[in-house]
Amino acid sequence: MTTPLPARVWTVTISATAGRSTFTCSACPSPAVASDAPLARQIRRHFAHHLTTTPLPAHLRICQCREYGCAWHRPQVPCSGPLRLLLTRTDAGRTWRLADTCLGCASATPHAAPVPEPPRPSAVSSPTPVSEPPEPMQGPGEWVEAL
Ligand SMILES: [Zn+2]
Ligand SMILES: [Zn+2]
Ligand SMILES: [Zn+2]
Repeated sequence: MTTPLPARVWTVTISATAGRSTFTCSACPSPAVASDAPLARQIRRHFAHHLTTTPLPAHLRICQCREYGCAWHRPQVPCSGPLRLLLTRTDAGRTWRLADTCLGCASATPHAAPVPEPPRPSAVSSPTPVSEPPEPMQGPGEWVEAL
């Protein structure tokens, strides 16, 4: 008996209701109402949250593009190369997708950019000498600004 592996692919769709932006995440039960912070930052933060709460050893990761029949890119290219995290923005910036994607698929996907893995929470909270004041927020919030 095996537990299904978590799929490391998330899609966020932005919509507007009554002048208010909301975003719907493929992994979350209900849409979130955007706050006043820049929308792009909120979405990146949201992705970072999923990444850090869905850890998967590198050898268990698969190309999510291939899982979906490589429908995300044309022309069709062979699925090959190391896996990376690929952030894609389509639909005039209203649809964001973050997925484990192989190098072959990643280079064929339009409107996409590889992004680094966010820092592991364990690495962030590594013990530091007590004389040092705590670092200001080095969590996923900082990772997202690097995009
Ligand atoms: Zn979500
Ligand atoms: Zn593909
Ligand atoms: Zn692939």
